[in-house]
Amino acid sequence: MNKLNHLLTELELLKKEGRYRPLTVWDSAADTWMELGCRRILQLSSNNYLGLTNHPDMKKAAIEAIEEYGVGSGSVRTITGTLRIHEVLEQELAAFKGTEAALVFQSGFTTNQGILGSMLGQEDIVISDELNHASIIDGIRLTKANRAIFAHKNLDQLEEHLKASGSYRSRVVVTDGVFSMDGDIAPLPEIVELAERYDAIVYVDDAHASGVLGRNGKGSADHFNLHGRVHIQVGTLSKAIGAVGGYMAGSQLLKDFLIHKARPFLFSTSQPPAVAATCLAAIRVLQSSSDRMERLWSNTEYFRGKVRSLGFDTGQSETPIIPIIVGTPEKTMQFSDRLLQEGIFAQGIVYPTVALDKGRVRLIITANHTIEDLDFALDRLELAGKQFGLL
Ligand code: PMP
Repeated sequence: MNKLNHLLTELELLKKEGRYRPLTVWDSAADTWMELGCRRILQLSSNNYLGLTNHPDMKKAAIEAIEEYGVGSGSVRTITGTLRIHEVLEQELAAFKGTEAALVFQSGFTTNQGILGSMLGQEDIVISDELNHASIIDGIRLTKANRAIFAHKNLDQLEEHLKASGSYRSRVVVTDGVFSMDGDIAPLPEIVELAERYDAIVYVDDAHASGVLGRNGKGSADHFNLHGRVHIQVGTLSKAIGAVGGYMAGSQLLKDFLIHKARPFLFSTSQPPAVAATCLAAIRVLQSSSDRMERLWSNTEYFRGKVRSLGFDTGQSETPIIPIIVGTPEKTMQFSDRLLQEGIFAQGIVYPTVALDKGRVRLIITANHTIEDLDFALDRLELAGKQFGLL
């Protein structure tokens, strides 16, 4: 093991900086209240926005799919791994998103890697918001394309890059629809307008907008009424949809290309059938009623209003992702630990994921939180916030 001593050095450094975190092991299902050992903890950090992880329709669909297909798909999509349930899921996803086609991957992460890693060559340029998700950053690292970064939501900088990119074969502007650490929304109408002016492709990662923004959770393009003007939409099936997986919604041409070129699609086994069936059931639940989304948004407005009136700094949050900015990594993790003692799980997010002085606990409100749950959280946050000098 001496050969791995450099890993020990890196872990020691993380410990010194207060960034070393053992995994938290929960003893019950992903829900608003979760068991941690013998304690019940109010969950304020789950991406289960609509409370679908335990929805009876989805559980039933999973069990039926296991009975019909077994537990695994047997191979990658291009061999035995495309089962009828994958095909139906893709058809319904495309119909839901209003696109020509959809293609499902194993996760949102591999979707971004698969598309960005295969679609671009050295004749192209990708122009990316500085706060885009790690899977976009890694996807861009996989390409030979040229790259430019614009400051977060800075349209002037984006335009500068577009102006300078006339000689490339294609220009792709890539942005998160909802930014995962701040909960703010990309200025998509302005991005689309600029892209149209400079003949660029628009690529939106809607991981945190799927099931959250737009009619019945169709995402940010629908939210802004930009139908047909966003060329590539990425969604995740791992957050509001409640299971795991990711997808591209866009043209049939891109789908055909990805089937032949996207490496995670070609070289990694497809979603188990029970997962695909669960995702399909979730899309049907979303389409059948908007009650959950309405609860999600009324809970969010209620909670964010109260947190702000207490005096916390919640940054630019416009969605159910509500950060409370704390400061240094050490103070942030201490605040998160303090909240856990008070019965709340609020994940600390620190450098390098966010700036050194902008450590935060990232709260995520869901449709299944009750007003009593939210009031309990507010009470504990106020107490801990005063102790930490945040109020
Ligand atoms: N994109 C964004 C913006 C995300 O926040 C995430 C999840 N953290 C992903 C992609 C990856 O999605 P998944 O969890 O399905 O791999």
